[in-house]
Amino acid sequence: MQVIILGPPGVGKGTQSQLIAQKLGLIHLSTGEILRKAVEDKTPLGLKAKAVIESGALVSDEIMIGVIKEAISKDEMAAGFILDGFPRTLKQAIELDKMLAEMKCNDVKVIYISVPKDELIKRLTARGRKDDNLETVLHRMEIYKEQTVPVREHYRNKSGILEVNGFGGIDDINVNVVELLTLGN
Ligand code: AMP
Repeated sequence: MQVIILGPPGVGKGTQSQLIAQKLGLIHLSTGEILRKAVEDKTPLGLKAKAVIESGALVSDEIMIGVIKEAISKDEMAAGFILDGFPRTLKQAIELDKMLAEMKCNDVKVIYISVPKDELIKRLTARGRKDDNLETVLHRMEIYKEQTVPVREHYRNKSGILEVNGFGGIDDINVNVVELLTLGN
């Protein structure tokens, strides 16, 4: 199974992805984690991406498509994976669809997690990451609305999405998510 997890920043995509990966034996691929690690290790990717991440803007499609192409072509990905933080733009989604088709992935599922905006801001500003101050958080919300909501609509029209309410306990939400993913399997 290949899972794409969508939702605004702060909705719990990372936490839910980890749990889903554990329960369903999938590999968790977080582009945010890949980038933060690259920044920490001061790799060429990290040096390029650092200021962009800290401003709350998006790293270029060209770079991110390259990152994901390399990551999902590894042999161990044949076990199935969950993409967290990618695709974030329509261009990324279209490129990803091509990659998945080439890899003959025929069990792709898209989950969308939502919670009310005031709850998101509360959660994000409490998280303490470097890109989590109020100004950056609001910027990331705007970018999400402009660039990533169209990705959700793309999949809603293309293949349908599984919608989950992300307001509540982590484990309860996870039970719902896993149930939706495995329904009919
Ligand atoms: P995340 O941990 O998913 O919230 O990502 C943290 C930051 O990394 C984002 O605010 C972006 O600056 C960058 N980033 C992560 N994934 C992508 C992506 N698919 N496209 C562009 N930028 C990304």
